Amino acid sequence: MFHRTLPGFIEVICGSMYSGKTEELLRRVKRAQIARQKVQVFKPQIDDRFSVDHVQSHNANRIISHPVARSIDILELVENNTRVVGIDEAQFFDEAIVDVAQKLAYRGIRVIVAGLDMDFRGQPFGPMPRILAVAEQVTKLQAVCVVCGAPASRSQRIAGPTGIDAEKVLVGAADLYEARCRFCHEPEGDGLAPDFTKLPSSKK
Ligand code: ADP
Ligand code: MG
Ligand code: ZN
Repeated sequence: MFHRTLPGFIEVICGSMYSGKTEELLRRVKRAQIARQKVQVFKPQIDDRFSVDHVQSHNANRIISHPVARSIDILELVENNTRVVGIDEAQFFDEAIVDVAQKLAYRGIRVIVAGLDMDFRGQPFGPMPRILAVAEQVTKLQAVCVVCGAPASRSQRIAGPTGIDAEKVLVGAADLYEARCRFCHEPEGDGLAPDFTKLPSSKK
């Protein structure tokens, strides 16, 4: 049963904005490079916040990455001797990213996928739910709620359109979003909100 020694698998790093997904992706990539494994990092072309050819975290760590328009382009771009593939901002990719990650894993590649698990309304984001379902390992990170200081699982849009029909894809950093916990998050329009009358602390 020598297949047990094959290295291909999928790891997901998810969480809200500012939860440290890119930092964690970069940490794993750097360790692979220390182990002299060839690494390639990809991101969707839509994310051009900081640089078109780097993956960059909010604390300015960065690594060279390849912007791609469609997820299937990744299959062509991965070189034969590549052992580790990193994919950042995976929530912005098309649904085919799930099969792309699976095919890479079946080629024996360690696939590290980082992305937002929820959009600013607190709903599952793009292909992330399906990637999470097929991954071998999942890490869910939390940021710090800017309102109350609790661990934050959600991203609050604080500028631009926020209604139920607002475009989900609005790429941006500090000026557009902030990290909030479940109770400070105001998702708008989906009927899901804290019921303060039923919380234990508010019962008489
Ligand atoms: P992500 O990729 O998940 O958006 P990054 O890895 O780019 O996150 O950035 C994480 C860093 O953002 C943290 O190490 C910290 O320096 C910074 N940061 C800014 N605001 C917050 C916050 N509200 N909670 C946690 N970290 C924050
Ligand atoms: Mg990031
Ligand atoms: Zn809070």
